[in-house]
Amino acid sequence: MGTTKGQPKLKTKTLALIAHDGKKAEMISFVKDNINFFKNFDIIATSTTGKLVSGAGLKVKRYLSGPLGGDAQITALVATGKCHAVIFMRDPLGMHPHEPDIYSLLRICDVHDVPLATNLSSAKLIVKGLHKNLLGE
Ligand code: PGA
Repeated sequence: MGTTKGQPKLKTKTLALIAHDGKKAEMISFVKDNINFFKNFDIIATSTTGKLVSGAGLKVKRYLSGPLGGDAQITALVATGKCHAVIFMRDPLGMHPHEPDIYSLLRICDVHDVPLATNLSSAKLIVKGLHKNLLGE
């Protein structure tokens, strides 16, 4: 991550946040709980998720809403090495018109071995892992 304890954090890594409607409250509460961690990264998000996350106090670059191509935009960033981790709170019980884009994002994360969390427990593990990497703890 390019930093060690005591040195200023370098915002060299980009982390994507995406939450389906049924999981947005969970995402916001997760971001609030870990706000100081997330501030170490450049944060990108799909449109509505990004709006909510910026309301929670994070600076966010917003892409299109998921159903309008936001997941596909983030997929392209993962594929080109410009996004280094994805926290995607999926709602497995909901219907999503952009299902093909969702699978494409999951697949491209696997193709490029990019850390991907699709639920709260794995999101917590990503935060823990990146925190360790970032602070050398
Ligand atoms: P949204 O898109 O953040 O604009 O709601 C997320 C999604 O549905 O993939």
